[in-house]
Amino acid sequence: MTRFRAIAVAVVVGLPLVACGTTAQTAVSPERDAAARISADLQFLADDAREGRGVGTQGLEQAAAYIARAFQDIGLRPGGTDGYFQPFELDPRSPALAHTQLGGERVKNVIGVLPGRGHLASQVVVIGAHYDHLGLGTRGYIGFSRDTTGINVVHNGADDNASGTTALLETARNLARRQTPTHRTVVFVAFTAEELGTIGAMYYVEHPTLPTDSAIAMVNFDMVGRMSGDSVIVGGTGSAPELVPLLESTNARYRLNLVKQDDPWGSSDHAVFYGKETPVLHFYTNLHADYHTPADDWEKINVDGIVEIVALASDLVWAMATQTERMTYVAVSRPERTAGPRASLGTVPDMVTPGEGMRVQAVRAGTAADEAGLKAGDVVLRIGDVEVKDIYGLQKALTTYKTGDTVTIVFLRDGERKETIATLK
Ligand SMILES: [Zn+2]
Repeated sequence: MTRFRAIAVAVVVGLPLVACGTTAQTAVSPERDAAARISADLQFLADDAREGRGVGTQGLEQAAAYIARAFQDIGLRPGGTDGYFQPFELDPRSPALAHTQLGGERVKNVIGVLPGRGHLASQVVVIGAHYDHLGLGTRGYIGFSRDTTGINVVHNGADDNASGTTALLETARNLARRQTPTHRTVVFVAFTAEELGTIGAMYYVEHPTLPTDSAIAMVNFDMVGRMSGDSVIVGGTGSAPELVPLLESTNARYRLNLVKQDDPWGSSDHAVFYGKETPVLHFYTNLHADYHTPADDWEKINVDGIVEIVALASDLVWAMATQTERMTYVAVSRPERTAGPRASLGTVPDMVTPGEGMRVQAVRAGTAADEAGLKAGDVVLRIGDVEVKDIYGLQKALTTYKTGDTVTIVFLRDGERKETIATLK
């Protein structure tokens, strides 16, 4: 079996190339321009001064203002109820907030519109990315820090999801330049409060700001900053039969290694749109050891990888916006819901585990998995009585058992079946 390899991470080139006086060196390619813009956006959004973009922080407000300003500079029309903003109040009675101390805070989605033209203009393609993150990683959040040493430390969320936000802005720059007599309206939405349970996306679908037909498709960028090799995962391909052919024909130019996953119910904003019977795609570059920890910093982002994803996604969205036919929604049954408090194992799952089971990408120090001797590369097959076929099996196991329960874990190491005992935390 394939052993876990640390993700190779390109260090960002922080500044645009500077002309050095000789004509040969003054030519700057469009890719380098894009990388410089993405780096600048990323460094603003994932700066310590943004306070981890937690709900209720000035940093989150500053990020919203930055995105609105960028939409304006790009030439998008304001698509909110207050200019580019769609403000609303977090409802303390909402089930998503039941296990937090939050409620009553004012938050805002940020919405920019590229108006359509011709007979397709009343239809909409939505592109989204959440711009919030975990703030100080406190237990005010459902997804509080996975790193127990990280409580009350700024979680910059460079990959999750400053990366997707920069991809959203760069895709807007790319599409705003294109001209064609007929195309659908493209709506760019930076969602708030995703980390609390996709609250911004839920508010948006219940309060759409454009008097149009329903969205014909939604494309989500959530965690696109850690491209390894030239692989990008595209979730939701089972939500319409036209998506895979469209992805493949678009990718013929770029030749990225697309890891296609049918499931449209992944835990991010696109699932909310899919729940409204809209075909969806989710671009992402897998989980990693720094996921939801204070170590998710901009220095580790593969900016050139984001440039490549944006190039592909821009062509893809433009095809969705211009082709005459709408896509055909396909109903994919929702995986078993596993609500309620979750025990912690302390592994980072590999979202592209081949075959059955859940491959461990990393084991967090001091966790149940660490104490039970699990290692990166192990493939978990069973926890207690719960079979772990995929991510949903892992989630089910961790809601079936409670903190303090002792369970037998069956796993593969180098192809050999093994067992260990773990006490969940
Ligand atoms: Zn997250």
